[in-house]
Amino acid sequence: MQDSGLTQTISFGLTIHEGSSENLHEGCLEARRVRNEVNRLDNEGWDWDDIHDTVVDNANLVKNTTQLIVQKALKELETYYDYKDNEWGRPFPYIDETYPMRMNHNEGYSLTLDESGDVRFRVSYKPYNHVKGVLRGSPYHLEGVKNALASDAWCVGAAELVYKHDEWRLHVTVTHKTRTVAAPDDAETVVGVDINEDCVALTALNRDTGDVLDSVVIEYPDIKRVRHEFFTKRKRMQNVGQTAFETVVRTEERDFVHDQLHKVSRDVTQWVSQFNDPVIVFEDLKDIRDSIDYGTRMNRRLHSLPFAALRVMVTYKAAWEGIPSDDIDPEYTSQRCPRTGCLHIERANRRRKRFKCNKCGFQDHADRKAAVCVAQEWVDDQDGNVPSLETLPRVRKVRRTASGLCEEADSHGAVFASGVYRHGTSARDSQSQAREELKTVAPTTGQTRTPRVTRPVVLH
Ligand SMILES: [Zn+2]
Repeated sequence: MQDSGLTQTISFGLTIHEGSSENLHEGCLEARRVRNEVNRLDNEGWDWDDIHDTVVDNANLVKNTTQLIVQKALKELETYYDYKDNEWGRPFPYIDETYPMRMNHNEGYSLTLDESGDVRFRVSYKPYNHVKGVLRGSPYHLEGVKNALASDAWCVGAAELVYKHDEWRLHVTVTHKTRTVAAPDDAETVVGVDINEDCVALTALNRDTGDVLDSVVIEYPDIKRVRHEFFTKRKRMQNVGQTAFETVVRTEERDFVHDQLHKVSRDVTQWVSQFNDPVIVFEDLKDIRDSIDYGTRMNRRLHSLPFAALRVMVTYKAAWEGIPSDDIDPEYTSQRCPRTGCLHIERANRRRKRFKCNKCGFQDHADRKAAVCVAQEWVDDQDGNVPSLETLPRVRKVRRTASGLCEEADSHGAVFASGVYRHGTSARDSQSQAREELKTVAPTTGQTRTPRVTRPVVLH
């Protein structure tokens, strides 16, 4: 998974100049036949090497393309055999919809840069038959593939032709040849990440001392708002049967959300870069970890689950800076008290953006607190214990909007202060208390470590 950081999958629309979308459909139907044939022969108990050779010899596709499709189909079966005890379903023996054509660059497909700055594509939907035209996509994505075509440090890899959102799309992988990423094990700073619909919270923890070095909550209210607006718009169009407009709206929304998420992922990477030897730690999303084909599956999710996309974008951009990413089991990170002296877990500890420990009274911004727990879990997994943590610094909030990044005036006072309120202090006069808490952030205690975090009993 660490290697995938330097390979990026970029999705493009296709404007066809020569040939037709029926030709592309034809190619993907043949890809489906190949895929189904692999499954049928496997069912009949054929040896996989024989399946490969037999199917490749009999397909009406560029040979190399058939090989890639067969490999992909066999990989699906392999994953099934590896995980079948883990409730992993067997691939459907026969699928009805088209199957992506998977093609090697300069074999089954090719991309070239023309003088006008367009990226031209050629897709061979069967031997000696081509569909040609130009790629369509956001400026950011087009820039990425142009850069890969022009630079020796990059290579353009395999692509998949897929039909989705009522149009043909090409998912192109680009890989940097020489970049390397530090080993997560060597990290000195652990950055816990908590991704939400309207914000991402980051906390940097010193691995040895357990000190929280800094934390920030980056809000992106525009993404949430635009997604909701487009959702309503789409619904209305569906009701009056305007499907053509619907496609346009969908593309607009996707481009906006992508563009914004790219900006947020740049903000995140930039913030992380300030620390010594960082590792970025996410909550593991099981369905992503288990995906058979990281690139394409991820890409499919880009549209339905923008926040998984944010993770992929951060991982990629950070890898580009040499910064590794890792993940932890997300169990209880949002419910657990981060004070190592407490560690109480209870669902009721969290109320919307507010975390308040029902046992010790510790309070904090819920998402920032979750990011602390993510970092702590990682240290626990790696080192077998977590250094003492009793208080946290104040939360800084910034806002990423369509017009830029801005520091948010802290009008919320108490809500984003953290710490244990003593002597029954009410939230009203806690502004000054919060400043006091800031001063009482656990001092650096050298190598003193508390015993391994053991999971306390969960109360319901
Ligand atoms: Zn507590």
